[in-house]
Amino acid sequence: MAKYEKDRYNIPKCSFCSRSGIEVTTLIEGPNHIYICDHCVKRSLEVIKKNESYHFSSSFGDKLPKPSEIKKGLDDYVIGQDHSKMVLSVAVYNHYRRILSTSNHSNDDIEIDKSNILLIGPTGTGKTLLARTLAKLLKVPFAIADATTITEAGYVGDDVETVLVHLLQNADYNEKAAERGIVYIDEIDKIGRKSESTSITRDVSGEGVQQALLKILEGTKAGIPPKGGRKHPEQPLIWLDTRNILFICGGAFEGIEKIIAQRINTSTIGFIAKTIDKTQESYKLIKHIEPEDLLKFGFIPELIGRLPVIAPLENLSDEALYSILIEPKNAIIKQYKKLFKLEGVELEFEESALKIIVEKAKTKKTGARALRTIVEEVMIPIMFELPDMENIRKCIINKECITNNAEPIFLSSIEKKSKSA
Ligand code: ADP
Repeated sequence: MAKYEKDRYNIPKCSFCSRSGIEVTTLIEGPNHIYICDHCVKRSLEVIKKNESYHFSSSFGDKLPKPSEIKKGLDDYVIGQDHSKMVLSVAVYNHYRRILSTSNHSNDDIEIDKSNILLIGPTGTGKTLLARTLAKLLKVPFAIADATTITEAGYVGDDVETVLVHLLQNADYNEKAAERGIVYIDEIDKIGRKSESTSITRDVSGEGVQQALLKILEGTKAGIPPKGGRKHPEQPLIWLDTRNILFICGGAFEGIEKIIAQRINTSTIGFIAKTIDKTQESYKLIKHIEPEDLLKFGFIPELIGRLPVIAPLENLSDEALYSILIEPKNAIIKQYKKLFKLEGVELEFEESALKIIVEKAKTKKTGARALRTIVEEVMIPIMFELPDMENIRKCIINKECITNNAEPIFLSSIEKKSKSA
C-alpha cells in the first residue's frame, strides 16, 4: 500500500482512485497517510444519498406532527378555509403515518390505502398555497403540474411522467426523498369533460389523460429521463416508485353544484341556478359532494376511487382578503415593508387604502390572486424612485394612491431632526 501513496514526483496520491495530488483540486489527508480526493468525496456522497433511507424530519422536529399541529402550521400561511385545513391535516397525517408504519414493517395484514386529495374551489382561494405550505411544513419535495398540459402517451405534449421530473429535480435528484414528496396537479377539472358542455358527455381525450394519471396516482414504477427532457429509447431511466407520493389535485369544477343539487333535490335546481355563481350556496352544496357527482362531471370511476379525500374551499370574504394582505407570515404588505426597511424607510398602508385594494380585487374575480397585482401596480413606480430619493424616513400609502395613482406621502428625516432639535 505504502508504495502507491506517492507518485514519481513524490506527491501524495488518493488512496481510493490513485489520482495524484496534481490531478485533483483537493486532496484530504487522513490518519496514517491515507488520502482522499475531491472526486472520490463527491462520488461517495452520491452513493450515500442514493442509499440513504428515509428519515422523517419536518419543521416540527423528528416526530410526525399531529393533525392539530399541521393545522396550526397552515394557519400561519393560509387565511380561512378551516374545514379544508382540518381535512387536509388529517389526510396528510394518515398518509405519513402509513408510510412510516410500512417502513417499520408492521406484521399485520391490514394495509392502509393511500389518501390522495381533491381540492375543489374557485380560483385564487388557496388550493395551490395549501399544497405548497404542507410540503414546506413537512419538509418534503414539492412539484406543481398542470393537468391540461399532460397528454396521453404517444401524443404531442407532456407525458404524465413529466410531473415526476420536476419532483425529482426539486428533491435534488434524491430518489428516496422524491418518493415521499407531494405533487399538486392543478386544473384537474379540465380533463373531466369538454369544458363548454354542460351535458354529461365525456371528453374522450380527457379520459385518456385520466387513465395516464391513474397509473401514477395508484402507484407505479415510473421511468423518468435523468435530466428531464423527452424520453429516448436508448437513454437509461431513473425508476421512481409513486406508491408513497401524495397527490393533491385541485380544480374549480364549475357547474358541479348543479349536479349535486340535482342529486339532492331536483326541485332546488331553479333556486340554485339563480344563486349558483360562486356564492356561499355553492360552497354549501360542494360540501355534500359524492363520488357519483364526479362521475357525472366526467371522471372515470377508477380515478375517483384514487381521490378518496375531498376538501371544498370557499370564496374568500372581504375580511379574509383584508387579512391575506397583512397577516400571513409572508403577507405581501409585510414583504414590501421589509423591502422599504432595507432602504431605511418605514412603509405604512392606511387602513382605507387596504380596504380599497380589497374592493378592487373583488371586481377581478380571481380571489386573492388579484391582491398582489394591485399592490404591485402601485408599489413598482415608488420602488423605482425610492433608491434615488434622499432623507426619506417614512412613506404612507393612502386611499388616493390606489384609486387615483396619487403620489404617496413622504416624510423627510431632516424635518424630524429639526423638529426634535
Ligand atoms: P388557487 O386556489 O387558484 O390554487 P392559489 O393558492 O394559487 O390559488 O392562490 C393565489 C395567491 O393568492 C397565493 O399565492 C396567495 O398569495 C393568495 N391566497 C389565495 N388564497 C389564500 C388564502 N386562503 N390565504 C392566504 N393567501 C391566499
